[in-house]
Formats: sequence, C-alpha cells, structure tokens
Amino acid sequence: MALKIMILGANGFIGSALTDAILRNRPWEVYGIDLADNKLGDSPKNERFHFVEGDITINKEWVEYHVKKCDVVVPLVAIANPAQYVTHPLKVFELDFEANIDVVRHCVKYGKRLIFPSTSEIYGMSPDAVLDEETSPLVYGPINKQRWIYAASKQLLDRVIYAYGVRDNLDYTLFRPFNFIGPNLDNVEEPKEGSSRVFTQFLSNVLYKRPIKLVDGGSQKRSFTYIDDAIEALLTILENQDNRASRRIFNIGNPGNCISIRELAERTIRIAQEFPVLREAARATEIVDISAGEYYGKYYQDIQVRVPNIEAAKRDLGWKPTTDMDTAIRRTIDFYVKQEGFGTRAAAMAAGI
Ligand code: UDP
Repeated sequence: MALKIMILGANGFIGSALTDAILRNRPWEVYGIDLADNKLGDSPKNERFHFVEGDITINKEWVEYHVKKCDVVVPLVAIANPAQYVTHPLKVFELDFEANIDVVRHCVKYGKRLIFPSTSEIYGMSPDAVLDEETSPLVYGPINKQRWIYAASKQLLDRVIYAYGVRDNLDYTLFRPFNFIGPNLDNVEEPKEGSSRVFTQFLSNVLYKRPIKLVDGGSQKRSFTYIDDAIEALLTILENQDNRASRRIFNIGNPGNCISIRELAERTIRIAQEFPVLREAARATEIVDISAGEYYGKYYQDIQVRVPNIEAAKRDLGWKPTTDMDTAIRRTIDFYVKQEGFGTRAAAMAAGI
C-alpha cells in the first residue's frame, strides 16, 4: 500500500515544493489542504494528489478525519516572517501554536507519525557558534521584545511533542529549517515592504527600483539553504528507513552558505544583472543602512549569527546540502523572472498607472 501523507499548508513555500517532489519522485498519495492553490503548479492534475481548499482553523473535521486516514502528518501551516512576529504576535501564537497543537494531539490519539517543522529561530540568541540540536541553549530576549513569540511558540511545541514521544510513544521527527530560499518563497511582486523574508525582500526592492535596506548595517549572518536540498532531507525523513528519523530532531541547513546580510544584498544585485529583465534596475539599486527600530519597530531584536551543525542529518539521514549560495540565488531569481507577467505591476507603478 502506498504511503498516505497529509500535508497541511500544501500551498506554502515548503508544502508546495514537498508536494511536487513527492508526486514526481515517490509513489505516495498526498492529502493536502491550504487556503489557496496558486503555488501548486501541475500538482493538482496528479491523481495521487487529493487537495482541498480550506482553513485548518475552520475545517477541523476534515483535518481530524484525514489524520485518521493517513500514515504520516506534515503540518506546515504557520506564519514564519519576522515582520509579522512584531506586528501580529497573537496571530502567530494562535496559528503557529494553537492551531498546530490540535493536529499534534490528533497524531497522538490515532497513533500517526508526525513530521513537524521546528525552526532555526528556536536557538534565538544562543551563544554557540554552531547550533546543535541536542546541546545548544535556547536564548530569548525579554517579553517586551515580541519577536520571540514565534520562537517561544515553536519551542513549547517541540517540548510538547517530545513529551508525547516519551510518554505516549508518539513517532515524530522535528526538523529545523535554516533560512530556506527558492522558488515560491514569498511574493516578490508585492510592493509592501516587510511582507517578505530577506532574500525575496531584496529581490522585490530591485524589481521596484527601491534601495535595499540593511538593518543595523547588515553584518548579521544567516546560513541560506536551497529548497531542493531541504526537500531531499524531508523525503529521507518521510521514508524513515529503519526508523532512523523517529523521535529525532534535525537541523536542515547549509553551513557552507553562511553569509552576512550585506553580502546577500551585494550578491543579489550582482546576480540579478545576469537577467536582462532586471539588469538595469539591479545596476541602479542602492544599498542603504537603517536601524532595526526604524525598520521593524521597538518589538524587534535580531540574531547575529545562525550556523547549523548538520552532523546528525549527515550521519543518520545520509544527507548533505549541495547547492552553493550563488546557485541558490540564481535559481530562485530565474524562477521568479519566468513567472507569467513578471514585473508588470512594478512597471505599471513606475509609470504611475
Ligand atoms: N533584513 C534586512 N533588510 C530587510 C529585511 C531583513 O536587513 O529588508 C535582515 C533582518 O534584520 C535579519 C535578516 O535580514 O537580520 C534575515 O531576515 P529574515 O526576514 O529573512 O528572517 P530571519 O532570518 O531573521 O528569521
């Protein structure tokens, strides 16, 4: 019998890439739910994909019924954009924590395998230079820095899932994404600043001929991970040969792609010039400094360096990332510029229409 996988948030950045990879490369059935289907490409045409447009906070019976019916549950519905943590902290809690705890409990009740997205944000301002799943301390700022509500929500879920594993034998894997980038990350055509994570924000700034803003000088570093590499790890986790991923936590990241945000801006501008449709705008793009307070408001606090230890994933999943930084940037830009009508909104705005 083919494995039945339930993906909540199948139209999201990770969900749509995972759905596509499963349907292309594995014989499994996918049961998906999401608010929309715009990122799903050809997946809805595949007869092994059973998709419903819906809201997991409303269509609760559908969710419980499908947890019962499927073998593995991958709940990917969450707000994962720092600008939202500071503007809508309660929405983050309600969706990322409250909506997901129900799904976790269904998995416990029906004895289903759970593959849950923890986050690299969980390490917060950990003093460790390289972040380890088993040993690194998780360090957050004070309550008045509302940015941490996301990390705190995710941390509590990790702890609850872990505890269900110990007490009730819940079969889970927690994976921690380190700044995944790739096609469908965010909408680069959206002119509103802050609606997007850093790389797609920068690309959007180029497209709209706006200066790239470096928060507090852009010396903070992230390890960017190309989505195809990440999906390979998730497929191995889903396969779970010899239970190698059961009751484990894995950092999924690319330590080789640890660069500063300033460097990311410079590389984005340089690589965007390879694409005729962006060349002129990229050449003209300025890089400016902005304070965190001005950009995000008083509830923000930043993380200076975020490098994963990926020994566990290498050893136990036989996985390692292979996409270098420039290739990840190039492939992502290539995806966006090939989208139908790319840049028409920006062009219309520039023309004052
Ligand atoms: N950042 C920036 N300019 C922007 C957007 C983000 O300098 O226009 C910085 C942000 O302050 C953070 C880093 O880029 O240090 C990564 O931001 P992102 O939103 O991708 O999420 P994070 O990695 O912090 O979860």
